[in-house]
Amino acid sequence: MKTAIYPGSFDPITFGHLDIIERAVALFDRLIVVIGDNLRKTHPLFSVEERMEMIRETTQAWKDLVTVEKLDGLLVNKVQATGAQTIVRGLRAATDFDYEFEMVLANRRLDPSFESVFLMPNSQYIYLSSSIVKEVVGLGGDASAFVPPFVARKLREKFKKNTVQ
Ligand code: ADP
Repeated sequence: MKTAIYPGSFDPITFGHLDIIERAVALFDRLIVVIGDNLRKTHPLFSVEERMEMIRETTQAWKDLVTVEKLDGLLVNKVQATGAQTIVRGLRAATDFDYEFEMVLANRRLDPSFESVFLMPNSQYIYLSSSIVKEVVGLGGDASAFVPPFVARKLREKFKKNTVQ
C-alpha cells in the first residue's frame, strides 16, 4: 500500500490545496493530510480542530482515501508512525522553491528512508494562498473563487466574530 503524507498549515484549506489532494489521490493508495503550525508564519486564524473539520468536509469526494491528522512535533516522526513512504507538497511559483528545498534536505538528514514529491497545481491556483484568502475576506471581499462554500462560510463567521469583540 502506497501511503503519502500531505503536510501543511491549511489555514484554511483552499482550491489550491484541493487541487494537490486530487492529484495525490490519483498517485497513492492512501493520503494522510497532516496539519501543523508553520513556525515561520504568524498566529493561525483557525484552530487545528477547525482546520481539520474544514478539510474533512471538503474532501468528502475522496473520503475512503483521505484521512486528516494533527502534527505534534517533527514531521519525520509522523511519517515513521504512519508507515508512509512519501511526503507530498505543492509547488506554486518559484517563491516556494528555496523553502521546500531546505525542508527536504533537513528531513532527509533526519530520516533518509522516504522521499518528498512535488505536484504543481492548475495554473489558475499558482498565486492562490491561504494568506491572500484571509486578506480578501478580512477586507470584506468574497472568497468563493478561492475556497469551497463550507470554508467561505467559516471565514465569514470567523471575521464577524473577530470584529465584534
Ligand atoms: P505551509 O505553511 O506548510 O507551507 P500551507 O497550508 O501554506 O502550509 O501549504 C501546504 C502545502 O500546500 C505546501 O506544499 C504549499 O506549497 C501547498 N499549497 C498551498 N497553496 C497551494 C496552491 N494554491 N497550489 C498548490 N499548492 C499549494
